[in-house]
Amino acid sequence: MEELERSLNFIEQIVEKDLAEGVNDGRIQTRFPPEPNGYLHIGHVKAICMDFGIAEKYNGVCNLRFDDTNPVKEDTEYVETIERDIRWLGFQWGHIFYASDYFQQLYDLAIRFIKAGKAYVDEQTAEQIAEQKGTPTEPGVASPYRDRPIEENLRLFEAMQRGEIEEGKMVLRAKIDMANPNMHFRDPIMYRIITSHPHHRTGHTWNVYPMYDFAHGQSDYFEGVTHSICTLEFEVHRPLYDYFIDQFSGPNFCGLSPYGPNYRPKQREFNRLNITYTVMSKRKMLQLVKEGLVAGWDDPRMPTVCGLRRRGYTPQAIRTFMDKIGYTKVEGMIDQGLLEHTIREDLKETAPRVCAIFDPVKLIITNYEGEGETLVAENIDGHPELGTREMKFGKELWIERGDFLEEADNKFYRLSPGGREVRLKASYIIQATGCEKDAAGKITTVYATYDPNSKSGTEGGNRKTKATINWVECNSALDAEVRLYDRLFAVENPSAEEGDFRDLLNPESLVVKNIKVEGSLRSELHAPVLVDGIEQENHYQLLKQGYFVVDPDTTSEHLVLNRTCSLKDNYLK
Ligand code: ATP
Ligand code: MG
Repeated sequence: MEELERSLNFIEQIVEKDLAEGVNDGRIQTRFPPEPNGYLHIGHVKAICMDFGIAEKYNGVCNLRFDDTNPVKEDTEYVETIERDIRWLGFQWGHIFYASDYFQQLYDLAIRFIKAGKAYVDEQTAEQIAEQKGTPTEPGVASPYRDRPIEENLRLFEAMQRGEIEEGKMVLRAKIDMANPNMHFRDPIMYRIITSHPHHRTGHTWNVYPMYDFAHGQSDYFEGVTHSICTLEFEVHRPLYDYFIDQFSGPNFCGLSPYGPNYRPKQREFNRLNITYTVMSKRKMLQLVKEGLVAGWDDPRMPTVCGLRRRGYTPQAIRTFMDKIGYTKVEGMIDQGLLEHTIREDLKETAPRVCAIFDPVKLIITNYEGEGETLVAENIDGHPELGTREMKFGKELWIERGDFLEEADNKFYRLSPGGREVRLKASYIIQATGCEKDAAGKITTVYATYDPNSKSGTEGGNRKTKATINWVECNSALDAEVRLYDRLFAVENPSAEEGDFRDLLNPESLVVKNIKVEGSLRSELHAPVLVDGIEQENHYQLLKQGYFVVDPDTTSEHLVLNRTCSLKDNYLK
């Protein structure tokens, strides 16, 4: 697919301005900071394309940083799948970092805050703290522990870390301003106690864990990030991000960064991606997986990267989609039809076409003599440069039941007795002569004759017919299971509806069928092929049916194909 010509997005404009002004010595460093508590979804890809894209475009570096500050929900399983998904998308990080790499530095920094009178240990419950927060128009109420002596704060915080204080009994709060109109300044929590769960990397070393607001900006700072790009919901956190960094940079610089006192990371925010007919909340996705409502994180109906991949989406199509929707400061909802349109446009140019018969009935060519023959067909009609494939032809073929009518009016151009000519795709012209039925009146066999001088690719092949039908030769045909996927939810915005989101699932999001496909697909009967450790997906257009991808459930005996999308494009530009 061609690259889209587009003007700079607003983040690129900011970066170019910073470069022109020599901010941070012209260094560009970004990071993608997933929390390893779930699988990446297409929303994350929007952030990935931004973070890696800026680094790529401006000769900078993008690092992968796992934001692993909550051991309760995090796991190495997620770390591995996140790395695999980013590689599959075609991005390369400079380094892999973990917020947990900085636990000691963050702890030391917290001690520094306490010693400077900028943090205190609060013994109130989470509910009490929330009640005292006030509202944006009313100031909050100071905690009775706010003016605890520094020595006592130090002693308690150290006791928290030694595991001497029960979970939930104390927190460390920044002492900032209980009346600030920005609620995030009303003495935000810096540290909490977690003793019940070991951390996936640091085990039981730590009993206190930093909160997002205290960990994120500082991690950016320790690493030398220049542009910390995130989604709009963090815009209100930005002043706090800056406040914390102010305490140890500029005039307060104390050597915590090799880049000197003038270095500063900048947080900038763009709109999240929301797509119709799906959910992207990790909590809801986890529920779908745990309750078996989908087959797993990589179920082809899931909006996860591994789900999209198994559905037959290509990295290129996903990246093109991100380019099309762009980056703004306005939240909105993107039509899933645009995503489908993008993959359809991609596969249209690359996916080899093959014949498949979804509702087979046998066709016998009564005047065909001999053992059969091998025809050659182009993978994509009119594009000999994209290769050819062999199609076995013979006396007995499978055709679609709907392509034959015993009695038809003159608007039906396909097979029917009475002399009309129909071309078999990439092969001969035939005429139906009759059919055979079972006791229930269902047609079991269609009879036809063929014209040996009408073969495609020969002079007789130029003879036109009003209809061309698909077929596969019976002896060489393969049985295949097709999984016909559709949208996961029956409503446009399941998150906006009242009640249980699980009641809104589309009951027809998966239909399984057994079909006949041409023998050329026999080459797909094997375990997935790895190139550089990455499984290669093979895409096909099943003629008249849609785009399909070979599913990893395929074995040497059983071919499984997933429908990526139909052929028809309902997306209105
Ligand atoms: P959580 O609720 O667990 O925080 P999250 O979706 O924010 O979930 P993170 O792992 O924290 O997950 O996200 C990593 C990065 O991806 C963040 O910078 C976040 O802003 C970005 N991101 C997450 N969801 C979207 C989305 N729908 N659109 C664009 N960016 C997103
Ligand atoms: Mg998050």
